Amino acid sequence: MRNVYTTLLLIFAIAILICSYVISKKDKTELTKAISRIMIVAPLTMTAYAGALLAYDLMLAETIYAIYYTVSDVLLIYMLFYTLKYTRVYELRKWQKLALLLVVAADGVLMLLNVFAEGVFIFRCGLMDDGSGTMFYGIVDRGVLYNFHRMIIYGMVVLIIIPLAVKIKRSPSMYRKKFWLTLLSLIVIIAANVLYIITEITIDFSVLSYGVMAVAIYYFNVIYVPQGLVEGLLSSSIKNMDDSVMCFDIDGNCVYANSVAYAFFKTVDPAALTDYLNNWLGDRKLSEMQDTEWKESHGKGSFISHYAKQFKRLCDTNGQCVGCFFKFHDETEDVKKLEAERYRATHDRLTGIYNRDYFYEKVSETVQKNSECEYCMVCSDIRDFKLVNDIFGINKGDEILITIAGTMKKLSGEGTVYGRLSGDRFALFMPRKRFDKDVFINEIRGFSHLLGSSTYRLHIHVGVYDVVDNDIEPSVMCDRAYMAITTIKSSFTSMIAYYNDDIREATLEEQKITGEFGDALNKGQFCFYLQPQVSVKGKVLGGEALVRWIHPERGLIPPNEFIPVLERTGLICRLDLNTWELACCKLRQWKDDGYTDRHISVNISPRDFYFTDVYKTFTELVERYEISPRSLRLEITETAIMNDFKKQIVLIQRLREYGFCVEMDDFGSGYSSLNMLKDMSVDALKVDMEFLRKTENPERTCTILKMIVSLSKQLGMEVITEGVETKEHVDFLTEIGTDVFQGYYFAKPMPVSEFEKQYLGVLI
Ligand code: C2E
Ligand code: CA
Ligand code: CA
Repeated sequence: MRNVYTTLLLIFAIAILICSYVISKKDKTELTKAISRIMIVAPLTMTAYAGALLAYDLMLAETIYAIYYTVSDVLLIYMLFYTLKYTRVYELRKWQKLALLLVVAADGVLMLLNVFAEGVFIFRCGLMDDGSGTMFYGIVDRGVLYNFHRMIIYGMVVLIIIPLAVKIKRSPSMYRKKFWLTLLSLIVIIAANVLYIITEITIDFSVLSYGVMAVAIYYFNVIYVPQGLVEGLLSSSIKNMDDSVMCFDIDGNCVYANSVAYAFFKTVDPAALTDYLNNWLGDRKLSEMQDTEWKESHGKGSFISHYAKQFKRLCDTNGQCVGCFFKFHDETEDVKKLEAERYRATHDRLTGIYNRDYFYEKVSETVQKNSECEYCMVCSDIRDFKLVNDIFGINKGDEILITIAGTMKKLSGEGTVYGRLSGDRFALFMPRKRFDKDVFINEIRGFSHLLGSSTYRLHIHVGVYDVVDNDIEPSVMCDRAYMAITTIKSSFTSMIAYYNDDIREATLEEQKITGEFGDALNKGQFCFYLQPQVSVKGKVLGGEALVRWIHPERGLIPPNEFIPVLERTGLICRLDLNTWELACCKLRQWKDDGYTDRHISVNISPRDFYFTDVYKTFTELVERYEISPRSLRLEITETAIMNDFKKQIVLIQRLREYGFCVEMDDFGSGYSSLNMLKDMSVDALKVDMEFLRKTENPERTCTILKMIVSLSKQLGMEVITEGVETKEHVDFLTEIGTDVFQGYYFAKPMPVSEFEKQYLGVLI
């Protein structure tokens, strides 16, 4: 009996050690480490017990028994650690682990001491019969402390059983089997052990259960996959899928469909799904079908749903068709997201109409579709839109843009494309015969009240390019329409301009001017001419500085050829600053030469007020050149004042208080000249005789002129008349009381040296 048992134990131990080697090679997770520890200690325990049974000497037997008891303690400790890690029911704290280890260590030490104390306090060995006549050393006597060892063993077994039991209760049924066997082998260990102690059986058969337990743990963790688990998981994943899945047998009967599929067909009857397959197949045979995928949409308008559908044959291992299945994937959300993304990429966020790139794309598409048609590109631009935003706020600005986009929609028709190109720029591409100028003018007039202000009107300019060649890039068509706008940009009355070749020339010229400007300024190609300003008594009081561009190739360029361009581009500020400085420099020279009673009038462009601090610039200039502000007269136009009336009143007041003489240039050419005078005073009004020359009713104009002069006298302002060309002018103007004259009658603008020669007596 003993021999059979020990052989069994040893074979079993070796088998377990081999498994332990395999598992330690396989992977090195915490769990496999815990398992391989058990699988090393379990065979050791078994080998120790087998050794004890085979011992031929009492002392040796007692020593091996002590080792066996100690190793079995260690095995249970490892079992406990493994169970806790594996079941995750509870976790031992550090001190708890330490306490357990200490108790086990104490047990081990006592066991060894017991050997030397001849088994007085734990156990004693003696020869026994295994029941079949073989003698061996077994436990004959158990001391008091043997119970301590047993308590440790049973206590740990209980600690192992609890988490296992909890885990079994909590786990889904298909996993329970795993834990049952471990639990069972533990119960067998206890039962066999108790039986061994309380009965006459001399050999502890429970030791074999250690091996069974180790093998069970190995098997269930490394090899075993619960039967039905894969199928169970597969079927539950199909059941829980968001896609409709229907399976059919070879005869076309629906054998399975998940709830989504039933909901899709609004039925609970598998027969309805069978009908679907038969309808879908029509005359075709299921066994001859190919796997296929396609897209389908159901519903209408905003209730439309999009599906990606799939048909697949199911074949056995021989490749024979055994059935088929359908999978419908609802991609409505994805399609909607994609559509929204595409919408965002192609439409303007604020107005919802096409953005620039998409507009160009659509124009090209339209032209391609109908290349015979004659088209026109209509582009719009709001005058001083930045100002609208500044004064009325961004919200008002946005509101205006949305209104314009709405009008675009209204004006569009078949074959028309419209979009927002940028900020305040819109474009409409339409068949030429559909473009009606009057309709556009009407709409633009309607916009002028959008600001809801009596002082400010919204001015929209429209440029039209009649497309002569449909192959021209849409962006170039827009550029040409905008070139047309530049010709009316500063006008308050013109609303629509057409592109023609002159405009192209002008634009090229404009580009040339702006391109050359910086370099020309640095090289000193700009100078000013002086046109004398003469008193009624004929005395030259000073002159107006009028800029000239001495171009190295083109000769002398008059200001009307470049000033409007520089004004549009904002470059005028740099030019004016240059002229002002040159004028101050000249005044300083005159002062040094003793001519302190002559003034120079300089022009200030409306743009200067936007981009420069006019007050600071002029005061710094006169201080730097140490000249009297009286000798520098400042010509400001009505437009400049009207742009920001309240601010300009304050500025003019400050300039005058500093000592500058401020003149209102081109008085009477604007809209609200008289209105302006009511709130603001300047030193002089400058009236252009152009006023008189252009009129068809000279008498009435003379009366108005008379009134202006008398009005300014009463308001304490000087009147300067420019454009004085004849003796009659001089006589009439003298009679009505004008103070100063300027005009060709006296002299044309002339180089400064000429002016000095003639009027200062300086000889060069
Ligand atoms: P403006 O300030 O009204 O200057 C008067 C313009 O009338 C000058 O033209 C002058 O040559 C012209 N003129 C003078 N007397 C007569 C006359 O008896 N009959 C006629 N038909 N015209 C006369 P110019 O020099 O060509 O200047 C044109 C405009 O260019 C100026 O008009 C002014 O608005 C602008 N400008 C000239 N220089 C400057 C400057 O330095 N800065 C700025 N911002 N603008 C300037
Ligand atoms: Ca002037
Ligand atoms: Ca003038």
